[in-house]
Amino acid sequence: MNLTLAAKSQLIRDKAKELGFDLCGIAEADFLSEEKERFIDWLDKDYHGEMGYMANNIEKRLDPRLLVENTKSIVMVALNYFPENTQEDSEAPVLAKYAYGKDYHFVIKEKLNALLEYINQEIGETQGRAFVDSAPILEHAWARKAGLGWIGKNSLLLNRKLGSFMFLGELLIDMPLEYNTETYLDFCGGCNRCIRSCPTNAIVSPKVVDGSKCISYFTIELKDEIPEVMKGKFENRVFGCDICQDVCPWNRMVKPHAVEAFKPNPEILSLSKDDWFAMDAHKFGKVFKNSAVKRTKFKGLKRNLDFLNE
Ligand code: SF4
Ligand code: SF4
Repeated sequence: MNLTLAAKSQLIRDKAKELGFDLCGIAEADFLSEEKERFIDWLDKDYHGEMGYMANNIEKRLDPRLLVENTKSIVMVALNYFPENTQEDSEAPVLAKYAYGKDYHFVIKEKLNALLEYINQEIGETQGRAFVDSAPILEHAWARKAGLGWIGKNSLLLNRKLGSFMFLGELLIDMPLEYNTETYLDFCGGCNRCIRSCPTNAIVSPKVVDGSKCISYFTIELKDEIPEVMKGKFENRVFGCDICQDVCPWNRMVKPHAVEAFKPNPEILSLSKDDWFAMDAHKFGKVFKNSAVKRTKFKGLKRNLDFLNE
């Protein structure tokens, strides 16, 4: 079958929709020259904290062709995970919404692999790999290039219809396609709500987050003790932090997702404040069996709970 590049891209976008992705766009694999300076500056200022892996593979991070040889196209997808319900006890330690359901890494990877299989069977032979937050790839930058949205002042990808509660994933493939050429306009305007609302002042300037001051970093990435100077600043966050998304006007009208796998685990949402603080390793293993929360292991969660409680 002799398909034009435009027809191939359209088939891929259609299939991505069929697989349940909310957005799909395609960018040409290239060197991220625009992002280079910003990224190097971010590293120089130690905004990555103890996330040493961020400073590894800088060249690959800026050029996906070095990550997967012969990559021509980056197929970016996004999936809304905005939940219908939130935690029941308003005094319970607060969990990032992305951790309510099944660990997104598996869910999205499975869909991306199905998309890759479809491309091979219906469009043409292609070599490629699927990634979900698992490789040195500047996902937000590629999502913007692929036309999925703009980068908000909180440094997250924003889309006018879907807001920012979206998981991102990508296929790096060696098939040339038709690429997005339109720049998604920036709709932050004069708003500064995310910057003003961040309890640790981690958003140091528009689109620049000092990762080493972010509550998500402290509660998920940091292996050591949380610095005393942060005491009282977490606004009850125990795993991750959604504050700069919760306050964003573009998240006000977002429709809840309908993805079965992301359906909140009722056991998680119904945990009361007392349940959280009484949690033991056994209960942790049971309640968070399929959630991304298990990344911290019980020890990490206990450290976070103690930090909130002291
Ligand atoms: S996630 Fe929380 S701590 Fe991190 S930048 Fe946003 S509001 Fe600040
Ligand atoms: S809160 Fe305002 S400034 Fe921040 S990302 Fe949303 S629209 Fe942009």
